[in-house]
Amino acid sequence: METTAAFTGLECRDCGRAFDADETTHRCPDCDGVLDPAYDYDAIDLDRETLASRPFDSLWRYEELLPFTHESAVTMDEGATPLVDCPRLADDLGVERVLIKDEGRNPTGTFKDRGQTVAVTAAGQHGASDVALASAGNAGQAASAYAGRAGLDSHVYLPARSGFTNKAMVNVHGGDMNVVGGRIGDAAAAYEEALDEHDDWYPLQTFVTPYRHEGKKTMYYEVVEQLDWEVPDAICYPTGGGVGLVGMYKAAMEFQDLGLTDALPAFYAAQASGCAPIVEALESDRDEHEPVENPDTICGGIEIPDPGASPWILEAIRETDGGAVATDDPDILEAAVQVAQREGLEMAPTCAAAVSGALELADHGEFDGDETIVILNTGTGNKEADVLRSHLMSQGV
Ligand SMILES: *Cc1c(COP(=O)(O)O)cnc(C)c1O
Ligand SMILES: [Zn+2]
Repeated sequence: METTAAFTGLECRDCGRAFDADETTHRCPDCDGVLDPAYDYDAIDLDRETLASRPFDSLWRYEELLPFTHESAVTMDEGATPLVDCPRLADDLGVERVLIKDEGRNPTGTFKDRGQTVAVTAAGQHGASDVALASAGNAGQAASAYAGRAGLDSHVYLPARSGFTNKAMVNVHGGDMNVVGGRIGDAAAAYEEALDEHDDWYPLQTFVTPYRHEGKKTMYYEVVEQLDWEVPDAICYPTGGGVGLVGMYKAAMEFQDLGLTDALPAFYAAQASGCAPIVEALESDRDEHEPVENPDTICGGIEIPDPGASPWILEAIRETDGGAVATDDPDILEAAVQVAQREGLEMAPTCAAAVSGALELADHGEFDGDETIVILNTGTGNKEADVLRSHLMSQGV
């Protein structure tokens, strides 16, 4: 494999054992735990000036903190997204500054591209011919795009509920598209069944491949550089499986360990009331979630009833003095429309859960007034224009 100098291999989050990344490709061979890329941080020589001297053109500008070299990467120059000032939202929240990290500007319109560029690079280096995953929609679209670029076949399992754009674009990218009746759990079951029959398929599933959260670290690196090395007081993230949240938490620890920053932001998980296992775990003081029996929200990207990495998500929240919040679908849709009308930015409903959640936190006095808050717009609104438009229609507009 064409790995970077400081990358030492994979470490199990559960049993702590280390594995060679050439041989071990997915979960822990000993205990089936989540594997996490590890580095020799002493060997990483990265300072603010070095980073500033590089063009802000893709997430691979942080190559030293990623497993693979930029040169070997399957990339479409994803990342390097804008951090947009939102003064009206800051007024609404009663804080000094609110910025939206606009991940809608990625190649397939969501931050899922950051995970897939690294995971599909790994797949190629492991000699895979086929990649496969179940997804609420955006990850499947991203995977089929990167697989196409890498010359790999992709097998994507989407629930019937996922949006038209996701389904259409998996086809357009040449993926083998499987629409499964029901929700994400049904799509995952169909995927597992197919995987049993095809042992040559390389899984790109969340926290099954060790590389998706690794790619998402770069959102945090970018935010801090874009704020001229000021660590934001809070980061509010629409949380499903928590890949992005865990990635950013890892990144925040790394920047601190490398001496590039000296603080951690408070991480907030925003969920929809119809599927809020992290909020429930936090409120009942548990270290792990309990699966939601009947998930029901219009926010497909965060309708994840059984987030396997919940202990890590909860650690990120507790260790940074953050929190978790759930709001109702109508409030989430209204937040998306308000941001579109007053700030101009186009947020998908799933993403607007982070805005709606931040408003709810502000209502409950979570902020003092002098904060800088970053909200992740994980995906573009125009993929789900129909859902946003029907919210307006439901109000007679
Ligand atoms: C997948 C997705 C999420 C949730 O991401 P996790 O990292 O699994 O929590 C949020 N927003 C959008 C637009 C997504 O596609
Ligand atoms: Zn293990």
